[in-house]
Amino acid sequence: MEGSLLKEFNPYLCYKNGSLYLEGVSLSDLAREIGTPLYVYSASYIRERVRAYYEAFPGSLVCYAVKANFNPEVIRVAGEEGAGADIVSGGELLCALKGGIDPEKIVYAGVGKTREELELAVDKEILMFNVESEEEIYVLNDIADRIGKRVRVSVRVNPDVDPKTHPYIATGLRKSKFGVDIENAKDLFKKAADLKNLDVVGVHCHIGSQILDVSPYEEAVSKVVDLCDDLIREGFEIRCVDIGGGLGIKYRPEDREPTPGDLAKAVRPHLSRLDLQVILEPGRSIVGNAGLLIAEVLFVKNKGHKHFIIVDAGMNDLIRPSIYDAYHHIVPVEDRDENYVIADIVGPICETGDFLAKDRRIRDLRRGDLIAVLSAGAYGFSMASHYNVRPRPAEVLVENGSYRVIRSRETYEYILYEKNY
Ligand SMILES: *Cc1c(COP(=O)(O)O)cnc(C)c1O
Repeated sequence: MEGSLLKEFNPYLCYKNGSLYLEGVSLSDLAREIGTPLYVYSASYIRERVRAYYEAFPGSLVCYAVKANFNPEVIRVAGEEGAGADIVSGGELLCALKGGIDPEKIVYAGVGKTREELELAVDKEILMFNVESEEEIYVLNDIADRIGKRVRVSVRVNPDVDPKTHPYIATGLRKSKFGVDIENAKDLFKKAADLKNLDVVGVHCHIGSQILDVSPYEEAVSKVVDLCDDLIREGFEIRCVDIGGGLGIKYRPEDREPTPGDLAKAVRPHLSRLDLQVILEPGRSIVGNAGLLIAEVLFVKNKGHKHFIIVDAGMNDLIRPSIYDAYHHIVPVEDRDENYVIADIVGPICETGDFLAKDRRIRDLRRGDLIAVLSAGAYGFSMASHYNVRPRPAEVLVENGSYRVIRSRETYEYILYEKNY
C-alpha cells in the first residue's frame, strides 16, 4: 500500500523497510511485547486534532466526547490541549475526572440520566447539563435543591435535519428519541426558567455521527441560532450554543474527511449573528484515526468459493463492522508478500456477523502474520464487550518514538472472580 494513502488516515503512520510504524514505534514489536489483540493510539494525532478545532473556532470550548474512547489517558491528552469533556453517563464523568478534566469544562447529555448519575454530576459542579425532556428538568431541580446548589442547563433541541449517515447514528431527526422538537422547545425553556435551582443558559443540538458532508450542520445551526435569537428577545439569558459533535472521518481509501475548518466555514455565518459562547463535542474526529487495532492471523481457511482469514480480534473487540456494516481499512503489519487474495477477515466469535471485512482484497496472509485495522480509535474499545468470555484488549499510547500501556489486557480473574458475586 502506498505510503501516501496511509498518511491520509494518520500522518504518523508509515512503513519502514516493509514494517508498519505509528509515531516511530514498530507495531510488530508492540504486538510481540504486549500481545494481540491490541489497540494502539497516537497521542500527537489527538493533540493536533484538538488544536485544529480551536484554530477553526477561536474562543470556543471543545468538549471531547468521552464515549468515543473513555481511556483516562486518552482524555488526558485531549485535556492537555485545552479540551473539556462531553459525557453521557456517570461512568464517563468519573473517566473525565480521572483524565484530569476540570469539572467546569464538562457538559452532560443523555436521554436517560439516573438519579445517582445526576447527583454525582451536581455534586461535582460540572459546567452544564444538556437536558432532553420535561421530566428531567424537575428531577434535576429537585436534586440541586436537596444538595443546595444551582445548576446550569441547556436544552437539547432536535432540529429535524437529516445528517445523511447510518440510521443508527442519526440523532437529529424528529422521529429520534433525542432532545425536544425545536418548535415546542420554547415551552420547555419557560418551564425550566421557572425552577429556582436551574439557570437556563444555552441551546444544545447534536444531529448525528460520521457526517462527511457539512451542509446538514449549516441547516441545524441556522435553526438553533434562530431559536437562541427568539429566546434572547423574550428575555432569556442565553449565553451559549452547543452544536454537538459528529464530524465524520476517513474510513475508506476514497473518503474525503472534512476538517474542523470546513465545519467552521459552514456554520460561521449563522454563529456570528449572535455573541454566544460556542461549545463543540467532537469524539470520532479527535480519536478515530488516532488509533488502530492489531490482530494476529490464527488460521487461513480456503473453502474454494470463499477464502477466510481468521484473526484473534472479533466483534467483541471491534463491533462496528457487525452492527453498522462499517468499513475499516486493513493492512498487513509486515508488508512482504506480493500476492493478493480476496478474503473475508473474520474473528473467533460464534456468530456469522463476526467479521472485520468482507470480500476484501488484501495481501496473502498466513498463520502468525499481523494485521492493522485502521480508524479504530473511536467506538472501538469503548464498545468492546466480554462476549464469548473474551478478555478485552490492551491499550497502548505512542508518542514521539516511545510507548506506554494505558490499559493492561484483561485477565480471566478480572472477568470471573474479582468480587463479582
Ligand atoms: C456521540 C455524541 C457526540 C460525539 O459524536 P462523534 O460523532 O463521535 O463526534 C457528541 N455529543 C453527543 C450528545 C453525543 O451523543
